[in-house]
Amino acid sequence: MRLKNIKGAREAVEHNPLVILEPEGLKGRWRESFGNNHPLYVEIGMGKGKFLYEMAGINPGINYIGIEKYSSVLLRALQRMDEKPLSNLLFIRMDAENVEKVFGEGEVDGIYLNFSDPWPKERHAKRRLPSREFLKRYDKFLKKEGVLEFKTDNKGLFDFALEELSPAGWEAVKVTFDLHNDKEMAEGNIMTEYEEKFSSKGNPIYKYIIRR
Ligand code: SAM
Repeated sequence: MRLKNIKGAREAVEHNPLVILEPEGLKGRWRESFGNNHPLYVEIGMGKGKFLYEMAGINPGINYIGIEKYSSVLLRALQRMDEKPLSNLLFIRMDAENVEKVFGEGEVDGIYLNFSDPWPKERHAKRRLPSREFLKRYDKFLKKEGVLEFKTDNKGLFDFALEELSPAGWEAVKVTFDLHNDKEMAEGNIMTEYEEKFSSKGNPIYKYIIRR
């Protein structure tokens, strides 16, 4: 998602106290920033933040961090927080390529990837967020028994993501090729912005839950 560059977005994001500008400095100390000892879940490639904002509203006993690359997109998530703030949600504007520098070993309880960019050219495979290169990064900070949940409507990306598991030392706990018609996995499902858009066109939604 690359919204048109919104004038002033970069500055607005940088002046918002909910956006952590030097997240590496909090590595291993994220619970202090939230002022509690609650579990920590991270969405990488959050977009405008619909999913994470709703999750944080439903689960006040869990802390959430949304990571997004673009200021113009992140700004939309911040606007939701202006309307109705939540104390358990913070944001980082960064390229997730360096995500392992931000969280300490075992600091994160769960990771969400939702409708990650497909990067269809083979030479860009390493940029795909469910690629083995990224799984190795997540391995460094996801706690031992933690899980990663990935949803997409892109069959090619989903097949790729499944193939990446074994070489990276991960295994599927649950897999569905039609989330919205899978009674067990659909229970409590919070739709993301892209999920609403693509499922309304009739596209099936693929999802896995994985662990090491
Ligand atoms: N997760 C949202 C949803 O499901 O509605 C947004 C999906 S959108 C297709 C993908 C988002 O991930 C975009 O906003 C994009 O800027 C962000 N993104 C892609 N690669 C990223 C990276 N390496 N680091 C941080 N954000 C990234």
